[in-house]
Amino acid sequence: MSDMGKILVVDDDRTLIRIVKTRLEAEKYKVFIASNGEEALRILDKKRPDLVILDIMMPGIDGFETCQRLRSKPAHRHLPVIMLTAKHNPSEKVKGLDMGAVDYMTKPYESDELLARIRAGLRARREYERIMKMVSRDALTGLYNRRSFDLRFAEEFSRAERYNREFSLVMLDIDHFKTVNDTYGHPTGDIVLKQVADLIQKNIRKSDIPYRYGGEEFVILALETDVAGVEICAERIRTSCEKFHFGKEKKPISITISLGFSYYQQDSASSPEDMLRKADSMLYQAKARGGNCVTSATLQKNNSAAAQ
Ligand code: GH3
Ligand code: MG
Ligand code: MG
Repeated sequence: MSDMGKILVVDDDRTLIRIVKTRLEAEKYKVFIASNGEEALRILDKKRPDLVILDIMMPGIDGFETCQRLRSKPAHRHLPVIMLTAKHNPSEKVKGLDMGAVDYMTKPYESDELLARIRAGLRARREYERIMKMVSRDALTGLYNRRSFDLRFAEEFSRAERYNREFSLVMLDIDHFKTVNDTYGHPTGDIVLKQVADLIQKNIRKSDIPYRYGGEEFVILALETDVAGVEICAERIRTSCEKFHFGKEKKPISITISLGFSYYQQDSASSPEDMLRKADSMLYQAKARGGNCVTSATLQKNNSAAAQ
Protein backbone atom coordinates (compact mmCIF):
# COMPACT_ATOMS: atom_id res chain seq x y z
CA MET A 1 0.00 0.00 0.00
CA SER A 2 2.72 2.45 0.94
CA ASP A 3 4.37 1.67 -2.44
CA MET A 4 2.23 4.49 -3.84
CA GLY A 5 3.74 6.81 -1.22
CA LYS A 6 3.17 8.07 2.31
CA ILE A 7 1.37 11.39 2.67
CA LEU A 8 0.99 13.57 5.73
CA VAL A 9 -2.12 15.79 5.75
CA VAL A 10 -1.95 18.73 8.15
CA ASP A 11 -5.12 20.72 8.82
CA ASP A 12 -7.12 21.87 11.84
CA ASP A 13 -10.37 21.25 9.94
CA ARG A 14 -11.34 17.68 10.88
CA THR A 15 -13.97 17.37 8.17
CA LEU A 16 -11.49 18.34 5.46
CA ILE A 17 -8.91 15.93 6.85
CA ARG A 18 -11.43 13.09 6.77
CA ILE A 19 -12.44 13.79 3.16
CA VAL A 20 -8.84 14.10 1.93
CA LYS A 21 -7.77 10.99 3.86
CA THR A 22 -10.60 8.86 2.44
CA ARG A 23 -9.84 9.96 -1.11
CA LEU A 24 -6.08 9.41 -0.77
CA GLU A 25 -6.59 5.98 0.78
CA ALA A 26 -8.88 5.05 -2.09
CA GLU A 27 -5.89 5.86 -4.34
CA LYS A 28 -3.80 3.46 -2.19
CA TYR A 29 -1.65 6.09 -0.49
CA LYS A 30 -0.67 5.59 3.14
CA VAL A 31 -2.01 8.61 5.01
CA PHE A 32 -0.94 10.23 8.30
CA ILE A 33 -2.81 13.15 9.79
CA ALA A 34 -1.92 16.07 12.07
CA SER A 35 -4.15 18.88 13.29
CA ASN A 36 -1.42 21.44 13.99
CA GLY A 37 2.17 22.34 13.10
CA GLU A 38 3.85 20.90 16.20
CA GLU A 39 2.14 17.57 15.74
CA ALA A 40 3.10 17.59 12.04
CA LEU A 41 6.79 18.11 12.87
CA ARG A 42 6.70 15.20 15.34
CA ILE A 43 5.03 12.86 12.85
CA LEU A 44 7.51 13.88 10.14
CA ASP A 45 10.44 12.62 12.16
CA LYS A 46 8.69 9.40 13.13
CA LYS A 47 6.88 8.39 9.94
CA ARG A 48 9.05 9.87 7.19
CA PRO A 49 6.26 10.70 4.71
CA ASP A 50 7.07 11.26 1.02
CA LEU A 51 4.89 14.35 0.67
CA VAL A 52 3.02 16.82 2.91
CA ILE A 53 -0.28 18.63 2.32
CA LEU A 54 -0.21 21.64 4.57
CA ASP A 55 -2.87 24.11 5.71
CA ILE A 56 -1.76 27.67 6.52
CA MET A 57 -4.16 28.96 9.15
CA MET A 58 -3.89 26.71 12.17
CA PRO A 59 -3.71 27.25 15.93
CA GLY A 60 -0.12 27.39 17.27
CA ILE A 61 2.57 27.60 14.62
CA ASP A 62 1.00 28.31 11.24
CA GLY A 63 1.66 26.56 7.92
CA PHE A 64 4.30 29.10 6.82
CA GLU A 65 6.36 28.53 9.95
CA THR A 66 5.81 24.76 9.90
CA CYS A 67 7.14 24.72 6.35
CA GLN A 68 10.13 26.84 7.26
CA ARG A 69 10.95 24.67 10.28
CA LEU A 70 10.78 21.41 8.40
CA ARG A 71 12.99 22.84 5.65
CA SER A 72 15.65 23.69 8.22
CA LYS A 73 16.12 19.98 9.01
CA PRO A 74 18.47 18.30 6.53
CA ALA A 75 16.32 15.14 6.48
CA HIS A 76 13.29 17.09 5.24
CA ARG A 77 15.01 19.65 3.03
CA HIS A 78 13.74 18.02 -0.16
CA LEU A 79 10.35 16.86 1.07
CA PRO A 80 7.60 18.11 -1.28
CA VAL A 81 5.06 20.31 0.50
CA ILE A 82 1.78 21.31 -1.14
CA MET A 83 -0.01 24.17 0.62
CA LEU A 84 -3.78 23.74 0.63
CA THR A 85 -5.39 26.84 2.04
CA ALA A 86 -8.35 29.19 2.10
CA LYS A 87 -5.97 32.12 1.50
CA HIS A 88 -6.46 33.31 -2.07
CA ASN A 89 -4.30 36.41 -2.01
CA PRO A 90 -1.37 36.20 -4.49
CA SER A 91 1.01 37.61 -1.88
CA GLU A 92 0.14 34.65 0.40
CA LYS A 93 0.94 32.26 -2.45
CA VAL A 94 4.28 33.99 -2.97
CA LYS A 95 5.02 33.71 0.74
CA GLY A 96 4.08 30.02 0.84
CA LEU A 97 6.29 29.17 -2.12
CA ASP A 98 9.15 31.28 -0.73
CA MET A 99 8.87 29.41 2.59
CA GLY A 100 9.69 26.22 0.69
CA ALA A 101 6.37 24.82 -0.57
CA VAL A 102 6.65 23.27 -4.04
CA ASP A 103 3.00 23.85 -4.86
CA TYR A 104 -0.02 25.82 -3.68
CA MET A 105 -3.76 25.10 -3.96
CA THR A 106 -6.71 27.07 -2.67
CA LYS A 107 -9.89 25.78 -1.00
CA PRO A 108 -12.43 24.80 -2.18
CA TYR A 109 -10.25 22.44 -4.21
CA GLU A 110 -10.85 19.98 -7.04
CA SER A 111 -9.80 16.59 -5.78
CA ASP A 112 -8.65 15.39 -9.23
CA GLU A 113 -6.39 18.41 -9.45
CA LEU A 114 -5.02 17.78 -5.95
CA LEU A 115 -4.30 14.15 -6.88
CA ALA A 116 -2.50 15.24 -10.05
CA ARG A 117 -0.39 17.70 -8.07
CA ILE A 118 0.43 14.97 -5.54
CA ARG A 119 1.56 12.67 -8.35
CA ALA A 120 3.74 15.46 -9.76
CA GLY A 121 5.26 16.13 -6.31
CA LEU A 122 5.99 12.44 -5.78
CA ARG A 123 7.53 12.12 -9.25
CA ALA A 124 9.93 14.96 -8.50
CA ARG A 125 10.75 13.37 -5.13
CA ARG A 126 11.52 9.97 -6.72
CA GLU A 127 13.70 11.57 -9.37
CA TYR A 128 15.60 13.43 -6.66
CA GLU A 129 16.13 10.17 -4.72
CA ARG A 130 17.30 8.36 -7.86
CA ILE A 131 19.88 11.06 -8.58
CA MET A 132 20.98 11.18 -4.93
CA LYS A 133 21.58 7.43 -5.04
CA MET A 134 23.67 7.85 -8.16
CA VAL A 135 25.89 10.52 -6.64
CA SER A 136 26.24 8.93 -3.22
CA ARG A 137 26.69 5.23 -4.03
CA ASP A 138 29.22 3.11 -5.86
CA ALA A 139 27.56 1.42 -8.85
CA LEU A 140 29.48 -1.86 -8.61
CA THR A 141 29.15 -2.73 -4.92
CA GLY A 142 26.13 -0.64 -3.94
CA LEU A 143 28.09 0.74 -0.98
CA TYR A 144 28.32 4.49 -0.34
CA ASN A 145 31.16 6.08 -2.31
CA ARG A 146 34.19 8.20 -1.50
CA ARG A 147 32.21 11.43 -1.84
CA SER A 148 29.70 10.28 0.79
CA PHE A 149 32.55 9.19 3.04
CA ASP A 150 34.27 12.58 2.91
CA LEU A 151 31.04 14.34 3.92
CA ARG A 152 30.06 11.93 6.69
CA PHE A 153 33.57 11.58 8.10
CA ALA A 154 33.92 15.35 8.52
CA GLU A 155 30.51 15.41 10.21
CA GLU A 156 31.30 12.54 12.58
CA PHE A 157 34.65 14.07 13.46
CA SER A 158 33.06 17.37 14.53
CA ARG A 159 30.32 15.49 16.38
CA ALA A 160 32.93 13.48 18.28
CA GLU A 161 34.79 16.70 19.19
CA ARG A 162 31.67 18.57 20.25
CA TYR A 163 29.87 15.82 22.16
CA ASN A 164 32.85 13.90 23.41
CA ARG A 165 32.12 10.80 21.36
CA GLU A 166 34.56 8.08 20.39
CA PHE A 167 34.69 6.41 17.01
CA SER A 168 36.97 4.52 14.66
CA LEU A 169 38.02 4.57 11.07
CA VAL A 170 38.90 1.21 9.52
CA MET A 171 40.74 1.05 6.18
CA LEU A 172 40.74 -2.19 4.29
CA ASP A 173 42.63 -3.24 1.20
CA ILE A 174 42.51 -6.50 -0.73
CA ASP A 175 45.89 -8.27 -0.83
CA HIS A 176 47.44 -8.82 -4.27
CA PHE A 177 44.24 -7.90 -6.04
CA LYS A 178 46.06 -7.06 -9.24
CA THR A 179 46.94 -10.77 -9.53
CA VAL A 180 43.23 -11.66 -9.38
CA ASN A 181 42.53 -9.39 -12.34
CA ASP A 182 45.61 -10.62 -14.20
CA THR A 183 44.81 -14.30 -13.62
CA TYR A 184 41.01 -14.45 -13.87
CA GLY A 185 40.15 -11.30 -15.79
CA HIS A 186 38.58 -7.98 -14.88
CA PRO A 187 34.93 -9.22 -14.76
CA THR A 188 35.89 -11.83 -12.14
CA GLY A 189 37.80 -9.10 -10.28
CA ASP A 190 34.54 -7.16 -10.21
CA ILE A 191 32.68 -10.15 -8.75
CA VAL A 192 35.35 -10.46 -6.03
CA LEU A 193 35.00 -6.76 -5.16
CA LYS A 194 31.26 -7.19 -4.79
CA GLN A 195 31.73 -10.28 -2.62
CA VAL A 196 34.19 -8.44 -0.37
CA ALA A 197 31.67 -5.59 -0.02
CA ASP A 198 28.95 -8.11 0.93
CA LEU A 199 31.20 -9.77 3.51
CA ILE A 200 32.02 -6.38 5.05
CA GLN A 201 28.32 -5.55 5.29
CA LYS A 202 27.50 -8.92 6.87
CA ASN A 203 30.15 -8.55 9.54
CA ILE A 204 29.50 -5.05 10.82
CA ARG A 205 26.86 -3.53 13.07
CA LYS A 206 23.95 -1.35 12.00
CA SER A 207 25.74 1.69 13.44
CA ASP A 208 28.85 1.06 11.30
CA ILE A 209 28.92 2.53 7.80
CA PRO A 210 30.94 0.89 5.01
CA TYR A 211 32.21 2.78 1.94
CA ARG A 212 34.07 1.89 -1.22
CA TYR A 213 36.95 4.32 -0.89
CA GLY A 214 38.60 3.60 -4.23
CA GLY A 215 39.61 0.64 -6.48
CA GLU A 216 40.04 -2.27 -4.03
CA GLU A 217 40.04 -0.15 -0.89
CA PHE A 218 37.16 0.15 1.55
CA VAL A 219 36.67 2.19 4.71
CA ILE A 220 34.30 1.67 7.61
CA LEU A 221 33.16 4.36 10.03
CA ALA A 222 32.57 2.50 13.28
CA LEU A 223 30.35 4.71 15.41
CA GLU A 224 29.37 4.15 19.04
CA THR A 225 31.88 1.32 19.35
CA ASP A 226 34.81 1.06 21.78
CA VAL A 227 38.29 0.23 20.57
CA ALA A 228 38.03 -3.44 21.58
CA GLY A 229 34.77 -3.71 19.64
CA VAL A 230 36.34 -2.30 16.49
CA GLU A 231 39.30 -4.65 16.77
CA ILE A 232 36.92 -7.61 17.04
CA CYS A 233 34.89 -6.38 14.08
CA ALA A 234 38.00 -5.85 11.89
CA GLU A 235 39.27 -9.29 12.82
CA ARG A 236 35.87 -10.83 12.03
CA ILE A 237 35.91 -9.29 8.53
CA ARG A 238 39.47 -10.50 7.99
CA THR A 239 38.65 -14.12 8.97
CA SER A 240 35.43 -14.19 6.98
CA CYS A 241 37.38 -13.21 3.83
CA GLU A 242 40.08 -15.76 4.59
CA LYS A 243 37.47 -18.53 4.75
CA PHE A 244 35.30 -17.43 1.84
CA HIS A 245 35.44 -19.02 -1.62
CA PHE A 246 35.49 -16.00 -3.94
CA GLY A 247 34.68 -15.78 -7.63
CA LYS A 248 32.34 -18.11 -9.48
CA GLU A 249 31.33 -21.39 -7.86
CA LYS A 250 33.25 -23.63 -10.24
CA LYS A 251 36.57 -21.85 -9.79
CA PRO A 252 36.85 -20.67 -6.18
CA ILE A 253 39.56 -18.09 -5.50
CA SER A 254 41.27 -17.47 -2.16
CA ILE A 255 41.59 -13.85 -1.11
CA THR A 256 42.98 -12.18 1.98
CA ILE A 257 42.63 -8.59 3.12
CA SER A 258 44.65 -6.21 5.28
CA LEU A 259 43.10 -3.77 7.71
CA GLY A 260 44.35 -0.74 9.60
CA PHE A 261 42.33 1.45 11.91
CA SER A 262 42.63 4.60 13.95
CA TYR A 263 40.54 5.38 16.98
CA TYR A 264 39.35 8.85 17.93
CA GLN A 265 39.09 9.74 21.57
CA GLN A 266 38.52 12.92 23.51
CA ASP A 267 41.35 15.48 23.79
CA SER A 268 42.89 14.24 20.61
CA ALA A 269 44.41 17.36 19.04
CA SER A 270 44.15 15.90 15.58
CA SER A 271 42.10 16.53 12.45
CA PRO A 272 40.10 14.25 10.14
CA GLU A 273 43.08 14.25 7.76
CA ASP A 274 45.32 13.10 10.61
CA MET A 275 42.94 10.32 11.58
CA LEU A 276 42.75 9.15 7.96
CA ARG A 277 46.53 9.30 7.58
CA LYS A 278 46.95 7.18 10.72
CA ALA A 279 44.50 4.52 9.56
CA ASP A 280 46.27 4.47 6.20
CA SER A 281 49.70 4.11 7.78
CA MET A 282 48.35 1.25 9.93
CA LEU A 283 47.10 -0.41 6.76
CA TYR A 284 50.56 0.06 5.27
CA GLN A 285 52.06 -1.65 8.34
CA ALA A 286 49.64 -4.55 7.95
CA LYS A 287 50.85 -4.93 4.35
CA ALA A 288 54.47 -4.70 5.47
CA ARG A 289 53.81 -7.59 7.85
CA GLY A 290 52.82 -9.70 4.88
CA GLY A 291 49.10 -8.83 4.70
CA ASN A 292 46.10 -10.75 6.05
CA CYS A 293 46.23 -8.95 9.43
CA VAL A 294 44.86 -5.99 11.44
CA THR A 295 46.89 -3.12 12.97
CA SER A 296 45.64 -0.06 14.83
CA ALA A 297 46.52 3.39 16.09
CA THR A 298 44.89 5.44 18.82
CA LEU A 299 45.02 9.17 18.34
CA GLN A 300 46.65 10.74 21.38
CA LYS A 301 46.79 14.31 22.61
CA ASN A 302 50.38 14.67 21.44
CA ASN A 303 49.34 13.38 18.01
CA SER A 304 51.54 10.31 18.13
CA ALA A 305 50.29 6.98 16.87
CA ALA A 306 50.48 4.14 19.36
CA ALA A 307 50.87 1.10 17.14
CA GLN A 308 49.76 -2.20 18.59
P1 GH3 B 1 48.61 -5.04 -2.37
O1 GH3 B 1 48.57 -6.42 -1.81
O2 GH3 B 1 49.86 -4.31 -2.05
O3 GH3 B 1 47.40 -4.25 -1.98
O4 GH3 B 1 48.57 -5.20 -3.95
P2 GH3 B 1 47.35 -5.06 -4.94
O5 GH3 B 1 47.64 -5.82 -6.18
O6 GH3 B 1 46.07 -5.42 -4.26
O7 GH3 B 1 47.27 -3.52 -5.15
P3 GH3 B 1 47.52 -2.60 -6.40
O8 GH3 B 1 47.23 -1.22 -5.88
O9 GH3 B 1 48.84 -2.86 -7.04
O10 GH3 B 1 46.41 -3.02 -7.44
C1 GH3 B 1 45.07 -2.76 -7.24
C2 GH3 B 1 44.31 -3.34 -8.40
O11 GH3 B 1 42.90 -3.10 -8.24
C3 GH3 B 1 44.70 -2.75 -9.71
C4 GH3 B 1 43.37 -2.40 -10.39
O12 GH3 B 1 43.30 -2.86 -11.68
C5 GH3 B 1 42.34 -3.11 -9.54
N1 GH3 B 1 41.05 -2.46 -9.55
C6 GH3 B 1 40.73 -1.20 -9.10
N2 GH3 B 1 39.42 -0.95 -9.29
C7 GH3 B 1 38.88 -2.05 -9.87
C8 GH3 B 1 37.57 -2.40 -10.32
O13 GH3 B 1 36.59 -1.63 -10.21
N3 GH3 B 1 37.39 -3.64 -10.85
C9 GH3 B 1 38.44 -4.52 -10.97
N4 GH3 B 1 38.20 -5.70 -11.49
N5 GH3 B 1 39.68 -4.20 -10.57
C10 GH3 B 1 39.90 -3.00 -10.03
MG1 MG C 1 45.44 -4.25 -2.61
MG1 MG D 1 45.13 -0.52 -2.97
